[in-house]
Formats: sequence, C-alpha cells, structure tokens
Amino acid sequence: MTDLCDMTLPELSAWMRETHDEPPFRARQVWQWIWRKMARDFDAMTDVSLACRRRLEQSACIVWPEVETVLTSRDETTKFLLRLADGALVETVLIPSESSKGERRWTQCLSSQVGCPMGCRFCATGGDGFARNMTMSEMLGQVQVARAHLAETRPGESLRNLVFMGMGEPLLNLREVMRVLQCCNDAHGLGFSPRRITVSTCGVENGLAELGASGLAFLAVSLHAPTQEQRERIMPGAARWPLPDLIDALAAYPLKTRERITLEYLLLGDVNDSPKDARTLAKVLSKVKFKLNVIVYNPTPGSPFRAPAPDRVLAFEKELWSRHITAVLRKSMGADIDAACGQLRRRHMADVR
Ligand code: SAH
Ligand code: SF4
Repeated sequence: MTDLCDMTLPELSAWMRETHDEPPFRARQVWQWIWRKMARDFDAMTDVSLACRRRLEQSACIVWPEVETVLTSRDETTKFLLRLADGALVETVLIPSESSKGERRWTQCLSSQVGCPMGCRFCATGGDGFARNMTMSEMLGQVQVARAHLAETRPGESLRNLVFMGMGEPLLNLREVMRVLQCCNDAHGLGFSPRRITVSTCGVENGLAELGASGLAFLAVSLHAPTQEQRERIMPGAARWPLPDLIDALAAYPLKTRERITLEYLLLGDVNDSPKDARTLAKVLSKVKFKLNVIVYNPTPGSPFRAPAPDRVLAFEKELWSRHITAVLRKSMGADIDAACGQLRRRHMADVR
C-alpha cells in the first residue's frame, strides 16, 4: 500500500499517472481531499469517479498517527502524544494566543525526529537518545491530528502557525523537512505561507544555508549561551560547530526586508543567567539581525538544572535593555501537563516500563 500522505503534489501526480493512468487534475482533487478537507478514506472523495476511488482503495492508503493521549493544560495548551506506525512515540503541542483583534489562534509545535541525537543536557528529548528521523507523512500527520482536534472541539478557531520546536533537530532531517515545507506552502493544500512557519535549530552547519536559500520558513536558533565554553557545557552536540562560526553564518543568513532571525535563550539558574552573560551576549550578537526570546527553564525530573530566580531574570533583561536589545520573556506554557519538549513522552515511557 502506498501512503499518499508521503507525497508532494508533483509526486502524487506522477504516481497517479504511472499506476492508474489518471490525469494531473485528478491528482489535484485527491490532494485537496487529503490536505484541505482532511479526508481519511477514499469514499469521502465524492467528486472523484467511483472507479478511480475503488482503484485507489486497492493500492493506496491515507495514514494518520494514532492519538495515544491528549492533555489540556489550565492555560489551554494542548499536548498530544502520538503513536507512529512502528510504535514509536512523538509529541506535538497546540499553544493558544490572541490576535490584535481578539481572535483566538493556535500555534503548533511539531516534532521532526523520534528522539534527538544532539544531547543537550537540559532537554528531556536529548536525554532519551535518538531512534530515527520522521517521514513527511508522520510530520504532517501531526498537523492533521491537531486540525481535526480543533475542528471538533473549537469550531471557528484556526491553526495559524507551525513551529519546528518539538522533538528532534530539523536540520538533521532536512530532506524530509523541506518536502513538508513544500507541502505546507501549497495553496491547494495546507496553505501555510513561509511567514507562518518557523524552523528551530540548535545550530547545525549542514543544511542551514540550504534552508535560507529555500525561503520556505523563518529561522529560529537555540543559542542558550554567549560563549563557546558555556555552550559546550550545556549543549555539547551543537557546540561541535564553534560559536564564532555559527554567529558568522547567522550574520550572512539571507533575510527579507524587516525579517529577523529569532534567537532563543533558555535561562538556566546560575548557569547562564548573570548580568555578565547578558553583556557578553549583546556583544556577540552585534553583527546579527535578530529578535531575542528569553525562556525560563521548565525543570524536568532528575535534571541537574533549575529555573532561574525571578530577580536574576529581571536583572538579565535589564542588562539587555540598557544595550537596546528587546528581549521577549516567554513563559513555559503548559507546565502542568509536561509541555516542554520530550517530557510527556518520557513520563509515558517510565509508566510503561
Ligand atoms: N532541536 C531544535 C528544535 C527543538 S527543541 C532546537 O533545539 O532548537 C525546541 C526548544 O525547546 C529549544 O529551544 C530547546 O532549547 C527548548 N527546550 C528544551 N527543553 C526545555 C525545557 N525543559 N524548558 C524550556 N525549554 C526547553
Ligand atoms: Fe535536540 Fe533541540 Fe533537545 Fe537539543 S534542545 S536535544 S537539539 S531537541
């Protein structure tokens, strides 16, 4: 059986022509049923001829991940634990926000790998090791599950933005991630413009230039420390690419007018949260066009790190402000449902072990 969710529109067109002798317009119809109307079987595709639907049933399938658990936080952040065809578990999270007109919108945090090989010390995903890359079908399956959930529980509220900030390092799975981005961008399909998609990386040399050249998404980089030495301590995998080289690559990264790279800085208590760290950070970033998100660490059980003291957070921000850097303080959403990357999966695995 061929999984039609694992094909871009040109791939689907070619497959339908080769295996069923169907013209491109038929492929477009099927494509719209899958991605626009979230059809899960061929019977739903009422404008496709019955004969074609029967042939598709014999040869193809539409695969969605299985929903293992759905948890909704007090702040309405909703986390899904999904089971993939081989039994692997991944997480995806829906985060609510309000538009300037008071409309409710949702941002979805997507996983790109089962586990992650980068081994950042503060990250539950990194601590649990790496199993494999996710396929395009599996990555987009997360979006389909979330859209179906919103349609059922919150009619009229839409999924607005996608961010690759779940489990895994997207640049290590760039070939599949690029196909996902192409599929998301298709106006006949999911219809997410590049402005509504962000790919977050811990800073991997391979693939960064390719992502930039594609123009298919915004870039976010998990910086987390202002010196190479501190990065080596908290994110040894990422630090294999020396910080000065990463900074040079970010300064050269192609940006559209008024576009900025989002830099993420995770504040870990007494590790990278001193006013001196803020000063060094400001200096290091002088060549880069960025906006800075400061995130307060969401402690995971057994972790050697702790959240920074509130007065340290304030002092850190003040130091940046005095250097004309606006830092947006991001609270960890959904702390009561283990919403930080990899936490829910880790607890589930502990329960079943
Ligand atoms: N691998 C990519 C994308 C996934 S991680 C990257 O590292 O950018 C998404 C973000 O979650 C990263 O910025 C990561 O540092 C952050 N994160 C991981 N564990 C966290 C925790 N316990 N509390 C808060 N943020 C965390
Ligand atoms: Fe991987 Fe990102 Fe977690 Fe680091 S923070 S281990 S790169 S998922």
